[in-house]
Amino acid sequence: MRDATLVTTLGRDPEQNDGIVNPPIQRASTILFPTMDALLAARPGPGVVNYGRYGTPTTFALEEAVATLEGAGGAVTVGSGKGAIVATLLALLQAGDHVLIADNVYQPTRHTADHLLKRMGVAVDYFDPLQPEQVEAGMRPETRIVYLESPGSLTFEVTDVKRVAEIAHARGALVVFDNTWATPLFFKPYEHGVDVTVHAATKYLGGHSDLMMGIVTSTPEIHPRLRQGVQDLGMSTSPEDCWLVLRALRTLEVRLQRHMESGIRIARWLQERPEVARVLHPALPEDPGHALWKRDFKGASGLFGLVLKPASRDAVAAMLNGMKLFGMGWSWGGYESLLIPTFPQTTRSATEWQTEGPCLRIHVGLEAIEDLIADLEAGFARLGAAA
Ligand SMILES: *Cc1c(COP(=O)(O)O)cnc(C)c1O
Repeated sequence: MRDATLVTTLGRDPEQNDGIVNPPIQRASTILFPTMDALLAARPGPGVVNYGRYGTPTTFALEEAVATLEGAGGAVTVGSGKGAIVATLLALLQAGDHVLIADNVYQPTRHTADHLLKRMGVAVDYFDPLQPEQVEAGMRPETRIVYLESPGSLTFEVTDVKRVAEIAHARGALVVFDNTWATPLFFKPYEHGVDVTVHAATKYLGGHSDLMMGIVTSTPEIHPRLRQGVQDLGMSTSPEDCWLVLRALRTLEVRLQRHMESGIRIARWLQERPEVARVLHPALPEDPGHALWKRDFKGASGLFGLVLKPASRDAVAAMLNGMKLFGMGWSWGGYESLLIPTFPQTTRSATEWQTEGPCLRIHVGLEAIEDLIADLEAGFARLGAAA
């Protein structure tokens, strides 16, 4: 079945639920066992209802749905996307290990690597996401993980994942991939050599800017280690939140199609603006990452970057402060549009980020495109007036 069908059918079973279309929200801490033997024999595991912290059928329904959509061997939910990243790294690493991380990685991931991992005795190096040779050169006998995010969520470079995976696997390292931007619909990581994915389900999977969640998926061999890692850290998700993500999954395909279509149209419109130096969007044929994006991805979500021509801080503030539809705030992936300033040069160590002027990140939501363009047009008028 195709993804548009899968998102409407996975994770629900009306026949087992009095014909009710959606699964129930099952909340629990205590699970009662009928006999002493049953109580003592029970072990937590995928799909096993044992104790509330390990999940209820609502949790398992979401985990199975996401694993199936992504082509993974298993999935485990965590309380936030950052939690998914931390749980993965702590589950798979120990003192003395080494990790190679793409330089365009989500800044809080870099913070965890530079502080928590280093404190735990794990060595960390960064590489240029556009130079797989740097992965080759950076590999050590103790390198356990090569960590990627593609496209990078501020600068949108596309990495040759297949090439990096070949290099990592040849030296016995795992490839961990942050698939938040593309979601399981637009990038199928297990077809490209990835071993583990992390998701901020807070973004498109949740889709409505009202919950926090992370999901870790993996090949079947690694899944038990990751589930155990999440359990060792005492991480747990609320069945209500899992239910909300399951509910949002039903519209994920139509939402993403609209985010993609509107995103590309706005990116093209921005390319024509005299105030804009460059648009950072891999679905544009002019983008340096376009060929790889086309080879590997099934679509583009609504998040991309732009570089303005030189403009003062006050002029950018005048533009952003007056936006009517584009909100200013962290996060993305909800139904609403967002526009924020970004400073990619401040979160890199292995590469330089050269810009002509101020950088912005735009999330194109589900509003009517004409209204979004009118809002941006008025914003550029304020930018010009304040210059
Ligand atoms: C937001 C985000 C995360 C972290 O997710 P939270 O749910 O906010 O903790 C991780 N990776 C990427 C690419 C993100 O954009």
